[in-house]
Amino acid sequence: MEPHNHQFDFDFIVIGSGFGGSVSALRLAEKGYRVAVIEMGRRWTPESFPRTSWSIHRWFWRPKLGLHGFFNMRFFRHATIFHGCAVGGGSITYAATLLAPPEKVWEISSWTGLADWKAEMPSHYQTASRMLGVTRNTILGPADRLLQKTGETAGSGNTFYSTRVGIFQPTGEPANKTFADPFFGGEGPSRTTCTGCGGCMMGCRYGAKNTLDLNYLYLAEKHGAEIFPETKVVDVKPLHAASNGNCGYEVCTVKSTALIRRAPRALTCRGVVFSASSLGTMELLFRLREKGSLPAISARLGKHVRTNSESIIGARIPACADDLSQGIAIGSGIYIDEHTHIEAVRYPSGSDTMGFLTTFLTDGRPGAGRIGLWLKNSMWLLLRHPFKTLRVIRPWGWAREATILLCMQALEGHIEMQWQRPWFWPFSKTLVSRGDKVPTYIPRANEFAKIFAQVAGGTAMSMLPEIVFDIPGTAHCIGGCVIADSPQRGVVDYHHRVFGYRNMYICDGSVLAANLGVNPSLTITALAERAMSFIPTAMETAWNDAAGS
Ligand SMILES: Cc1cc2nc3c(=O)[nH]c(=O)nc-3n(C[C@H](O)[C@H](O)[C@H](O)COP(=O)(O)OP(=O)(O)OC[C@H]3O[C@@H](n4cnc5c(N)ncnc54)[C@H](O)[C@@H]3O)c2cc1C
Ligand code: SF4
Repeated sequence: MEPHNHQFDFDFIVIGSGFGGSVSALRLAEKGYRVAVIEMGRRWTPESFPRTSWSIHRWFWRPKLGLHGFFNMRFFRHATIFHGCAVGGGSITYAATLLAPPEKVWEISSWTGLADWKAEMPSHYQTASRMLGVTRNTILGPADRLLQKTGETAGSGNTFYSTRVGIFQPTGEPANKTFADPFFGGEGPSRTTCTGCGGCMMGCRYGAKNTLDLNYLYLAEKHGAEIFPETKVVDVKPLHAASNGNCGYEVCTVKSTALIRRAPRALTCRGVVFSASSLGTMELLFRLREKGSLPAISARLGKHVRTNSESIIGARIPACADDLSQGIAIGSGIYIDEHTHIEAVRYPSGSDTMGFLTTFLTDGRPGAGRIGLWLKNSMWLLLRHPFKTLRVIRPWGWAREATILLCMQALEGHIEMQWQRPWFWPFSKTLVSRGDKVPTYIPRANEFAKIFAQVAGGTAMSMLPEIVFDIPGTAHCIGGCVIADSPQRGVVDYHHRVFGYRNMYICDGSVLAANLGVNPSLTITALAERAMSFIPTAMETAWNDAAGS
C-alpha cells in the first residue's frame, strides 16, 4: 500500500556498489524490489585494467584532475586512507583476502549485547564466503616462503598460514584456463584460473579474482537491478516534507566524471541503502545533515572511526634471485603475538610507483627525533654504500624486489571525523580527522621486518609518510556510523536502520564498531547479508521499517 499516490522510480536506491552495496542490491532484487545502484566509479573489464601502476590515469581516481581509475588515496592528519572507487567498489582494487575476525570483536564497543552475534554471525559468514568463493590460497610465491622462514627464525613459524582468498584457484587445474560458471550453478559468468601474477591490486586482467561484478552485482543485474556507473549521489531528501522519510526519498545525482555538463538528475524511491564505504557514507551524511536534507542524523556521525591499527613496513632485496611479485597479492600471513598479525603483500612486476612512498626502516618515538634518526641513517648509508643504497630507494624494479609487510592489530583505538573548513582551504567544508594520534611505530613489527630483511638478504623498509609526517597508511578505514542501541551512541541500530528515518539503512564498513585485526571485507559482506535478511519481501512490506520497530 502506498502512503501517497506517487509514482516512484525505484523501490530501493543503493548508494555505492562495494561489498555492502552489492549484497544489498542482490538480496533486495531477489525479494522482488525494483533496485537502482548508483556508483560514482567506472565499470571495468579485464581488458580495460592498466598494465602497471605507471598508467596513473587508469589507476588513480581523481576526476577533477582527469584521473578516472579505481584507486583513491585521501590524506588526513591521522591517517592516509586508501580505498576503491568502481562498479564493485573496493573489490576491484583489493587483494581478495577474506578472513573472519576473532570472536572477541563482538564483545568490544557499542554493538556488544545488541544481538547474539557469536550465534548469528557464523551462518552469514558462511553465505558471504560461498558467494565470494573463498578458498585457501594454493599459490605460495617467494615472498610467502620468506615470510614463513622469517616466522621460523623469529619463533612464530607455527602461526604461518596461507590466506583465505576470493580467487578462482581450482586444485589440479592449470593457470589461465577458462571454465563455464563454477560458482552459481550456471547462473554466473565464466571464469579463468589464477596465474599467480601478483596483480590483484591493479585489477585482475585474467578474470580470476572474484570481484563483486562477477558475483553479487552480476546476479543482481540478472534479477533486474539497474546499475548507474559514473554517477555520484549529491543529495537525499524525504519526499512531501515528511521529515522521517515515510513518504519516500528523492535522490539527486550528477555525472561523476564530468567537470561541466554534469547532467543533474533526481530519482525517487521508497527506501535508501547508504553503501558508499566508511569515508563515502560519512562524507555524504555530514553534507546532508548540514544542508538540512537529513537533519535528524545522529550527532554520533563521524565518531569511532578506526584504522584497524595498521603499520606498513617491508623489505627490499636488490638483485633478488626470485621475482617477489609472483604469487597472489596477499598470499600468506603470520601472528607474531596474540594481537599482532602480519601479511606478505606484493604488487605485480612493473607496478613500481609505490616505491616512491618507501624508505629505510626507522625505529624510535615519532616526531622530530625519529625524522632526525631517519635522515642520519639515510646519509650514513648513502655515504658508506652509495650504489647499494640508491638501488634500494630507486622505484624502478621495486615490485620485483620488494615485499610489503602489512601489520594489523586487534587493539582498541579510534579517531573522529568532523565536518569542518580545513585551515589550508577555508572556502568549503570537508572531512577533517581529530583525536589521539594513531601509532605509526609498532616496535614488534619493526623487529620482524628487520629479521625478514636479514633472512632475505635485503634492507628493511618503512612507509615515508609514517616517518616524515608520523601518519600511518591504511586500506581499512572502518566505522563512523557505528551500530548501537540509540542515537546517543551510534548512527544505526542492530538491523542497520538509520536512527530518525524510515526505510533507510547503512550497509558498508562505516557500521563496524570494533577494530577487527584482520581485513574487513568478509565481515562487511556478512553483516550486510544479516541486515538484508531482516527486510521483508516486496509483497509483504508495509514500508514502515524504523529503528526500534
Ligand atoms: C589496495 C587495497 C587493498 C585491499 N585489500 C583488501 C583485502 O585483501 N581484504 C579486505 O578485506 N579488504 C581489503 N581492502 C579494503 C576493502 O576494499 C574495503 O574494506 C571494502 O571495499 C569496503 O567495503 P564497503 O562496502 O564499505 O565500500 P566500498 O567497497 O569501498 O564501496 C563503496 C563504493 O561507494 C562509491 N561511492 C562513494 N561515495 C559515493 C557517492 N556519493 N555516490 C555514488 N557512489 C559513491 C565508491 O565509489 C565505492 O565504489 C583493500 C583496500 C585497498 C584500497
Ligand atoms: S594473482 Fe593475477 S591472475 Fe591471480 S587473481 Fe591476482 S591478478 Fe588475477
